[in-house]
Order: sequence, then structure tokens, then C-alpha cells
Amino acid sequence: VSSAVIIDGKKIADKKALVIASQVRTLNSTYSITPGLSVILVGSDQASHIYVENKMRRAKELGINIFPHILPEDTKQDDLIKLIKFLNQDKEVNGILVQLPLPSHLNQNAIINTIDAGKDVDGFTVENVGLLNSWQDCLEPSTPQGVLILIKKCLGHDLSSKKAVVLGRSQVVGRPMASILVRENCTVTLLHSKSINIAEECKNADILVSAIGQPGFIKADLVKKGACVIDVGITRVDGKLLGDVDFEEVSKVAGFLTPVPGGVGPMTVVCMLANTIKACLKQNNILLKI
Ligand code: NAP
Repeated sequence: VSSAVIIDGKKIADKKALVIASQVRTLNSTYSITPGLSVILVGSDQASHIYVENKMRRAKELGINIFPHILPEDTKQDDLIKLIKFLNQDKEVNGILVQLPLPSHLNQNAIINTIDAGKDVDGFTVENVGLLNSWQDCLEPSTPQGVLILIKKCLGHDLSSKKAVVLGRSQVVGRPMASILVRENCTVTLLHSKSINIAEECKNADILVSAIGQPGFIKADLVKKGACVIDVGITRVDGKLLGDVDFEEVSKVAGFLTPVPGGVGPMTVVCMLANTIKACLKQNNILLKI
């Protein structure tokens, strides 16, 4: 018997999208501004194309201008850097997103760090990472931002006294997630492939965020009864999307659980678009209640 409350990420994302759409309308009507997002995709990675299409579709639905740059696999580093520098100067472009991973001949760090930090809607530049880790206002990475919203929907706004375990230490999810949860007063353990006693650590967690990309890794015996379990993992197996969590088993133990798909994924997209609005407001010196 399933006891966990299943967190409907799509519904929560749709609600956030309504707020964004209304902000876009206010920007249009009061300030004659339409927020703009440049999306750069290099190469033919199939999953990346699907992710980019999702982001662009959602942006268009919300009234955000999209400037797509779909570039061939053999795009040169210098040409990509030139394009980003041009977009940094373009007043109609409030946000710039470079879909990762980039083809291996490109220097990912150099390219990401060319993006103006004020337009870095993924929050991946060293400037935004530094600001996040020093608890200053910045454009925060969208997946951990979305996960935090889901956790607060389950456990309320005050997360102090909670023990959180983050599984995975990537630059895009695990590390910023751990940093955000520390800022939110959780006691945080960050686990990765070299960690020992993973099961024991997980079993103590009130909040368990898994971002490792290993389908079904989190079984019921890794989960504390009543815990809030957030499954960030997305792995495509035979055309099906699978999370890191064994949903059927864990739903009997957890207090709250996100499904895959329909959990974290939709939140990631709307949080990136919320960053685009935040960037647009800041670039135009507009204070709008969010
Ligand atoms: P990544 O860069 O591949 O990093 C994976 C992390 O998991 C690494 O830190 C790795 O440890 C750790 N790891 C792998 N196997 C492990 C194991 N058996 N035990 C403990 N740790 C293990 O991944 P990512 O970019 O963060 O993505 C993680 C997953 O989330 C993927 O499935 C991805 O598709 C998904 N994702 C979803 C969204 C969304 O919107 N829902 C957004 C981004 C990513 P080491 O560092 O030691 O190698």
C-alpha cells in the first residue's frame, strides 16, 4: 500500500508558470518590454534537443521571446564565444542559455563563463556560483531552485533541524543543491561515488535528494519512514524515463515522493524562465513584486 504523498511537480510548475505569464503581461503593458531568452544548442544530442524544445515551448506559452541558435556539431570555440559576446550586448536578450553537455572539442567552462552573469539564467558561471555560495542575491541554478520549492511544499518554509542527504555532486545539481539546503538551515551530507556507508547516511535523512542517474538505486531500505524523497534522476531506458528511486517500493516508506516524469523536470524549466524574468527586471531597473 502506498503511503507517500506523491508530489505533482507538473501542477506546482503550472502554478508558477501562471505567475510568470502575468509578470510578462505587466512588463508588456506597463513598460513595453517583452522578456527575451537566447537558447544555444550545439550538435545533435537527442536528449538535449528534446530538453531545448520543451524549454522553448514553455517560454513561448508564457509570452517570452525566444532566440534559438541551433548550431552544428563542428562549431568552433571562437565562433561560439563571439556569439555569446554579441548576445551579452543585445538589449532584447535578457537571458542566455547554453544547453549542456557541449561537444567534447569545446571548452565548456570557458564558454559558460563568457555569459554575462546577469544573463546567466542557468546560474552556471563562476560569478553566480560564488554569489550563491556566499549567500548573495544571484541567478540560482534552476534544478536545485525547483527542488527547494517542492521540499517546502511538503515540509513547510522552515527547514531548520532537518537532516538532508544529497546524492550526487555535479556542478549543475548536487553541489548547488547542498549549498542551498545549508543556507536553508538543514544539516547536509553530500554523497558521491567515493562515499562509504551510503545506505546508512540515506536512512538518516529527513530530506533525500537523489541526482546520480542510476535507475532504481534508492530502494526502500535506504529511506527513513516519512522522509521527503526528491528524485532528480532521469535515465532513458528503452524509450522510457526512469528516476533514481524505486518508486513502487519507496512510496510505501516515504512521506513524500516525486515521480519521474512529472516531478522535478517541469520545475527546472519554469525556474529557468523565472530567472529570465528576474534578469529582465534587473537589467531594466524595474521592481515588480514576485
Ligand atoms: P552527473 O554530472 O553525471 O553526476 C552524477 C553524480 O552522481 C556524480 O557526482 C557521481 O559521483 C554520483 N554518482 C554516480 N553513481 C553513484 C553511485 N552509485 N553512488 C553514489 N554516487 C554516485 O549528473 P547530473 O548532471 O547531476 O545529473 C544527475 C541525474 O539527474 C541524471 O540522471 C540527469 O539526467 C538528471 N537531471 C535531471 C534534471 C531535471 O530537471 N529533472 C536536471 C539535471 C539533471 P562522482 O562525482 O564521484 O563521479
